Amino acid sequence: MGVPFVDLAAQRRALGDRIDRAMAQVVEHGQFVMGPEVRQLEEELARFCGARHAVSCSSGTDALVLALRALGVTAGDAVVVPTFTFAATAEAVAFLGATPVFADSRVDTGNMDPGSVASALDGSSSDGRTPVGVIAVDLYGQPAEYGPLAKLADEAGVWLLADAAQSLGGAQDGRRVGTLAAVTATSFFPAKPLGCYGDGGAVFTDDDNLAGLVRSLRVHGQGRSRYDYVHIGMNARLDTLQAAVLLAKLTIFEDELAARQEVADRYSRMLPAGLALPAVLPGTTSAWAQYTIRTGRRDDLAAALAAAGIPSAVYYPVPLHKQGPYTDFSHAPSGLAGAEELAAEVLSLPMHPYLDAPIQDRICDVVAAALSQG
Ligand SMILES: *Cc1c(COP(=O)(O)O)cnc(C)c1O
Repeated sequence: MGVPFVDLAAQRRALGDRIDRAMAQVVEHGQFVMGPEVRQLEEELARFCGARHAVSCSSGTDALVLALRALGVTAGDAVVVPTFTFAATAEAVAFLGATPVFADSRVDTGNMDPGSVASALDGSSSDGRTPVGVIAVDLYGQPAEYGPLAKLADEAGVWLLADAAQSLGGAQDGRRVGTLAAVTATSFFPAKPLGCYGDGGAVFTDDDNLAGLVRSLRVHGQGRSRYDYVHIGMNARLDTLQAAVLLAKLTIFEDELAARQEVADRYSRMLPAGLALPAVLPGTTSAWAQYTIRTGRRDDLAAALAAAGIPSAVYYPVPLHKQGPYTDFSHAPSGLAGAEELAAEVLSLPMHPYLDAPIQDRICDVVAAALSQG
C-alpha cells in the first residue's frame, strides 16, 4: 500500500460534494473571470486572517511580484531574501530587475536569521547599494521572526514583505499570518495548506493605498474605468473556478489546521532520538505545510522510507546562491553556512490533515529501524 505525501483525495472525500457543487455553479453562471466568488473569497480570507484587505491573484509568485511592484521596487534596487527558500522568493525580485541579497537561515527553524539580515542591511554586501526592503519566508509553515525582523526593517527605514506561501493559517503572538508584516503574499498551489485546483495566490495588507495598487496592477494597471490605464500592470487575476474551490475548502480549513497540529505533535512524540525535530518558537503556531527533520543520514533515511513505500522530500537540496542564475548575486557578509547545513540535512515526511495514526506509526518505525542500522 502506497502512502501519499499529501492526500488530496482524502480531503475531497471529507468535503463530500461541496467542491463539485461550487464548480457547477460557476459553470452555470458563466462569470469565469472576476465572478462573484472572487469577491466573496477575498472577504472571507480577510476575515480569516484579520487583515483589512485580501486581494486574490493568479499565483504565489505573482502575489510576490504584485506586492514588490506596489512597494515601488524597480530595476537596480537591492532586496534582502533568504537563500534557503523556494526559487520564487528571489525570482520575483530578479524578475523586476532588482538584486536579491541573500541572508542566512537558522538551522533549528529553517527561517531567516535576523543577525544575518542585520549584516545584509548595512549595504556593504550589495555593491554599495542600500537594500530597500526585506522578504521574510515562513518556511514549512512557521512564521518567520517578525518581531526582530520588523525592528531591523524599521531601524533601516525599509519595508518588510512576508512570503507566506507555506504558512496561511499560522500565527504569532495572537495574530494570524496575513497581518504579521505590512504586506503578505501567499499561494494556493494545490500542495500548500490552503490549495486550489490549479494556480492561485493572494496579497494581504492593512494599507488602503497598497491594496488599491495591487488591485489595479493585477488587471493591466486599470484606472477608474476599463480602458483607462494608470500603471503598467499585468494579467494576474484568480479564476472564478479557483475561488469557488477555495471557498469550499475554507469551510474545513480550521479543522484541517487542528489536524495538522495533531499530526505534528504525534511525529514529535513518536520519532526516535538521534534526529533534530522541527523547532517552533514560543508564541508561534505553524501551519505545518511540512514536517521537516534534520539528520546527517538523510539519504539513508530517504532510501529506507522509499523501500517501505513511504515518500519523503528534500525542501531544498541546493540553496539559491548555488544555483546557476543566482550565483552572481551578493550575500550577507557573515556567510550562508546555516543554509548549506540545512540543504545537506533536511528531510520532509508525509504531512497532511488526513494522515492517520497507524500509518504515522509505520513511518516512525521505518525511521527508527533505518537509524538503528549502521
Ligand atoms: C510555493 C511558494 C511560492 C510560489 O507560489 P506559486 O503559487 O507556486 O507561484 C513562493 N514562495 C514560497 C516560499 C513557496 O513555497
